[in-house]
Amino acid sequence: MTNERPSLCASCGECCRTRPGLEEPARFLAAPDPAAALAAALGSGDWVLTRIAGVRCPRPATVDERASGRVHEGAENSPCVFLGEAGCRLPFDGRPRMCRELEPWAYGDCQVEWDLADASRAWAPLQGLLDAALR
Ligand code: SF4
Ligand code: SF4
Repeated sequence: MTNERPSLCASCGECCRTRPGLEEPARFLAAPDPAAALAAALGSGDWVLTRIAGVRCPRPATVDERASGRVHEGAENSPCVFLGEAGCRLPFDGRPRMCRELEPWAYGDCQVEWDLADASRAWAPLQGLLDAALR
């Protein structure tokens, strides 16, 4: 069961075109060396750290962010680096948690169970891990 609703999203695409979803820690904590996994993701340019309520949280970069090396806070007019012609290029299970949980709804009034506050709470105790990844 996925949250994909092509009939709604094909004519919208707003989230993937302006604000990539945040990832939860589990993807990185499952790696043998979480700091190295985070470092590799950030070093690839495909991932960045954004601040939510002062807490750094990883998410995919936008195309502009990858090109400029600067992180934009909030929405911007640039697509997620993983957005392809036919939608997200990542397999469903490989997408950030916020992308997996965003429930498309009519007129762009979409719902997400795991939101910015959840991401901030999840990453707050792991800021030291991010420091290790950045060293
Ligand atoms: S999830 Fe919502 S905002 Fe994103 S493309 Fe679908 S309808 Fe648009
Ligand atoms: S990772 Fe995929 S689903 Fe998430 S914002 Fe990027 S293109 Fe969209």
